[in-house]
Amino acid sequence: MAMDARARVQRKALLGDADASMVFETSKGVEVIPTFDNMGLRDDLLRGIYAYGFEKPSAIQQRAIGPILAKRDVIAQAQSGVGKTATFSISILQGLDIQTRETQALVLSPTRELAQQTQKVVLALGDYMNVQCHSCIGGTNVGEDIRKLDYGQHVVSGTPGRVFDMIRRGNLRTRSIKLLVLDEADEMLAKGFKEQIYDIYRHLPPATQVVLVSATLPHEVLEITTKFMTDPIRVLVKRDELTLEGIKQFFVAVEKEEWKFDTLCDLYDTLTITQAVIFVNTKRKVDWLTEKMREANFTVSSMHGEMDQKERDAIMKEFRGGESRVLITTDLWARGIDVQQVSLVINYDLPNNRENYIHRIGRSGRYGRKGVAINFVKSDDIRILRDIEQYYSTQIDEMPMNVSDLI
Ligand code: ADP
Repeated sequence: MAMDARARVQRKALLGDADASMVFETSKGVEVIPTFDNMGLRDDLLRGIYAYGFEKPSAIQQRAIGPILAKRDVIAQAQSGVGKTATFSISILQGLDIQTRETQALVLSPTRELAQQTQKVVLALGDYMNVQCHSCIGGTNVGEDIRKLDYGQHVVSGTPGRVFDMIRRGNLRTRSIKLLVLDEADEMLAKGFKEQIYDIYRHLPPATQVVLVSATLPHEVLEITTKFMTDPIRVLVKRDELTLEGIKQFFVAVEKEEWKFDTLCDLYDTLTITQAVIFVNTKRKVDWLTEKMREANFTVSSMHGEMDQKERDAIMKEFRGGESRVLITTDLWARGIDVQQVSLVINYDLPNNRENYIHRIGRSGRYGRKGVAINFVKSDDIRILRDIEQYYSTQIDEMPMNVSDLI
């Protein structure tokens, strides 16, 4: 098969089976609602949306909020940074009965940081609604979790382990849950999480509406959705005005592993123009690279899943606040995390799977901002890079000298 044709087939496998060059819905008749005012939202929610700074709904918001509010099961797929979190957060808030404090919506995410971020978005958009939203995540005090849940939380945003634990103990009562959102759904339904998700799902009322969200939804994931979704509507939005082309992708040929470090040091001034995230593939390597950068007198922060949660929280806060500008991390950070100032992503190591490539580089270029991704490529990585290029029908050029002008 010619390269182009194969790339097209592969992209179809990723995006569904319609023309990927335009905004589209696979389900005919999905209404496009061009303004928040026309969505029939409650006034206190609308006020929260505008106060948060949103003026106009993004393409995915224009298409997915309607069907979710119409109580359909929805699969919403759109590229990183186009407002998927707000899509389901607004939908959740609209559906709440604030008179009671029963838990009515549950959002599950693959990382604690993402669950916390979603909680913050729900609370911010629901600022005028008096909404209770709790992030129920591992690594935090169980007693505190129980206290918060016993007080009553309209929305729970959590990671599967702790959420299931709270359900089993009876502290998270599921009887009034009407909506389950799986954020980063392909990750949640992959090995490692899937069983936990099913365990939780079995404890939800049978009529629970299900919404799946991700930038990547490979075929095998879409196939298993039939197990727990009823006649789902698929809303697939290829970035239109906010295309992935907004993120410029480059490679640096480093030949050997040993040359990566010097390359990174050479790039340090570029990293600190705004904020940058550097991805490596193991926790040990995060520690190693952090140490080595610090020895060379560069200021960097780092984060991985073996640090305790207090430390992770502190680093997130520091990075979100802009006090630290360069973060070295693992795929823990690949999905969902939204820090608008990040304009550069470095793949010090190429990711182990194609999906995470697109998630990683999507940490830059949030909501149509400029983004640059730089891949360090050893001689034996070139094949992987070409594979990524083909799979996403994209082009990854050699890094130009003036890369800092692009940030
Ligand atoms: P995704 O979940 O698709 O990766 P997010 O929901 O995290 O994207 O949104 C990315 C950024 O865009 C966030 O900083 C969010 O506040 C902002 N954003 C989302 N929707 C809008 C909108 N309608 N108008 C302006 N900014 C928005």
